[in-house]
Amino acid sequence: MSVLLALLLASTHLPPAPGCYVHRDWDGRIARSREVVAYWRETNPCPSTGRTSGRCPGYEVNHKVPLFCGGADAPRNLEWLTRREHVAFHRAMKQCPPSRR
Ligand SMILES: [Zn+2]
Repeated sequence: MSVLLALLLASTHLPPAPGCYVHRDWDGRIARSREVVAYWRETNPCPSTGRTSGRCPGYEVNHKVPLFCGGADAPRNLEWLTRREHVAFHRAMKQCPPSRR
């Protein structure tokens, strides 16, 4: 883990909020691994820009099993959703699904 990431996590670590908006931004104010997303984007470019880094207008990275439901902060748990899809997803996910672990 990089020093920068360690500092980031130490300074921003907060209990998970209801809804998983903890992870929607790219700006470093969130307590999750940007390195995981960077790795994932190498094979999952932004649907609107086709780029593997930088901003992705209109899309947000979602954890298929939300972090607050025990989902992994790992590439296999990530997907692109539009803003509208993301909001709908979390509206439906107010209750965590039965554990699949
Ligand atoms: Zn989400």
